[in-house]
Amino acid sequence: MRLVLLGPPGAGKGTQASAIIKKYNIPHISTGDIFRANIKKGTELGKKAKAYMDKGQLVPDELVVSIVKDRLLEDDCKDGFLLDGFPRTVKQAEALDEELTKMELKLDHVINIDVESDELIKRAVGRRICKNCGATYHIEFNPPKKEEECDVCGGELYQRDDDTEKTVANRIEVYLKETKPLVDYYTKKGIIFSVDGKQAIEDVFKDIVKSLE
Ligand SMILES: [Zn+2]
Repeated sequence: MRLVLLGPPGAGKGTQASAIIKKYNIPHISTGDIFRANIKKGTELGKKAKAYMDKGQLVPDELVVSIVKDRLLEDDCKDGFLLDGFPRTVKQAEALDEELTKMELKLDHVINIDVESDELIKRAVGRRICKNCGATYHIEFNPPKKEEECDVCGGELYQRDDDTEKTVANRIEVYLKETKPLVDYYTKKGIIFSVDGKQAIEDVFKDIVKSLE
């Protein structure tokens, strides 16, 4: 099963990714992780990528594609993989298709976890974190027993600076603008499934499994 997972920040992509790789026994390939691994190992690609990242620049498509391609050639990917955070652009998606074609493979499905902006904003803005132990709460969906106090350790709860309505709205807008062409690209290919991410975690996962079978 060769999969791509798409979803806006706050849609619960990480949780679903963990469940998917467990059920289908495929590796979770996040570009962030492979970049860090390449940099740590000091590979040529890693060195090149680091030079861009150190300057605070985006790593160019060709380089991202080479790094992902190398990863896909590793042994654990021979029965499939779950790509997360890649592709980000249509250009990257086309390059991925080309590379897979060379390997005589193709993507099976693209899963798009769909959650409306309003809902994502509500989720992020209500999030509270314990200053002491890092436990997370939500004032509406998972409130602490005592207001503004951690259930685990009694620590004080706070809201992350970037969880304000304005920054979250901006984060989502950037994501949607960036991803819309990608969703269109895979829609044309007929391999994308949109799953309603507003449901409970287990139900989102059930829908994903259903869409893959
Ligand atoms: Zn705590």
